[in-house]
Amino acid sequence: MGKYPSTANRLVPEIPGKIRLSGPLEHDNIVNGYGLRAVLWTQGCFKHCPGCQNPETWDPEGGFLVDIEEIKSRLKEFKGQSGITFCGGEPFAQPKACKEIADFCRKELGWNIWSFSGNTYEEIVEQGGDSLAFLKSLDALIDGPFILAQRDLTLKFRGSKNQRLLHLEYGTAKILKVE
Ligand code: SF4
Repeated sequence: MGKYPSTANRLVPEIPGKIRLSGPLEHDNIVNGYGLRAVLWTQGCFKHCPGCQNPETWDPEGGFLVDIEEIKSRLKEFKGQSGITFCGGEPFAQPKACKEIADFCRKELGWNIWSFSGNTYEEIVEQGGDSLAFLKSLDALIDGPFILAQRDLTLKFRGSKNQRLLHLEYGTAKILKVE
């Protein structure tokens, strides 16, 4: 990746039972995946892509802390959603908290699960551990850093041509389809 080395090993300091967010929970969002979606905006990103639209989400100690149980209660109130998308910031910098919320959404609400990452699928797989466990809880990953020189405003859900929309097999993270 050259100037975009993997940051898959860098984590936001973990506080049990909490997740660090950069913005309020959304619902009825149609620009971060197929169908009407809840969106969770995580805080903390170590990639620092030039041209990033959300540099205020980089600070791993910024944003605000929320109880994961409170997030679950709020998500339960969102009706008619097909899924949830984890955006950032870098969701994989808080893989345990994100996986707990993802599992709740799948099992209790019947939603599908998407996430963005500034790291590639291969970097997340290589990292293993909690990051791989979160990856295996997804139905789709939009991967890779935003690269200004490859910006393309016509792409679905992505900002630059290097980013891929990967449809994954739940439970194994096997790539089923690349869009
Ligand atoms: S990975 Fe995303 S949030 Fe992080 S710096 Fe790059 S564009 Fe910004």
